[in-house]
Amino acid sequence: QVPVVCVDGPTASGKGTLAAETARRLGFHYLDSGALYRLTALAALRQGFALDLAHEQQIAAMARVLPVRFEGGHVLLSGEDVSDAIRTEEAGMNASRVSVLPAVRTALVALQHSFRRLPGLVADGRDMGTVIFPGAPMKVFLTASAAKRAERRHKQLISKGIPTTIDVLRADLEARDARDSQRAVAPLKPAQDALLLDNSEQSVEDSVAQVLGWWEA
Ligand code: C5P
Repeated sequence: QVPVVCVDGPTASGKGTLAAETARRLGFHYLDSGALYRLTALAALRQGFALDLAHEQQIAAMARVLPVRFEGGHVLLSGEDVSDAIRTEEAGMNASRVSVLPAVRTALVALQHSFRRLPGLVADGRDMGTVIFPGAPMKVFLTASAAKRAERRHKQLISKGIPTTIDVLRADLEARDARDSQRAVAPLKPAQDALLLDNSEQSVEDSVAQVLGWWEA
């Protein structure tokens, strides 16, 4: 049985950083499931589909055979490097739109399962512990206050030269959290056996140490 560590939590909670670093330290593979929803939304828009129920089946059909490759920190869609294109705030909001479509979620299950390979996997997302890997031996639910999350995202974007304000970002992430938590299928919530970690006052290294400590315990 290949071990899986799930890291779920709301937007900009630092899941990606924590999960990738934990994977590196354990020598495990890493699944960024949010990227799959971002890629699906991008591919759908390029096909001219509206990101709603009207095109649910067409988007799901695309998601089932998503031509994606992860290569050395880059994400390729049909061979094109879309690493930057899927990282924008708009791409995140679009991902949240396609992620409420049940057929799209189902279409991405097999691809997510295919990341489970020896020696192990750290999977980050919203429903890793509740839906995709329900039998995982360790599940972490990461949170941070909305204020902190907006502040961190602001710093990140400003450092990349992208102008924005904390208020706009906070409104944006609260809207995304609301949609992610209220959707009918696989809503964002901690698995029953999840370990809760609030990193509002923690450094990345503190959170990584906490998770590795739990893993080794
Ligand atoms: O984690 P990230 O911000 O990249 O995810 C983008 C969006 O994809 C989320 O807001 C959420 O709507 C959706 N998502 C999801 N299930 C996952 C991962 C992401 O619904 N496992």
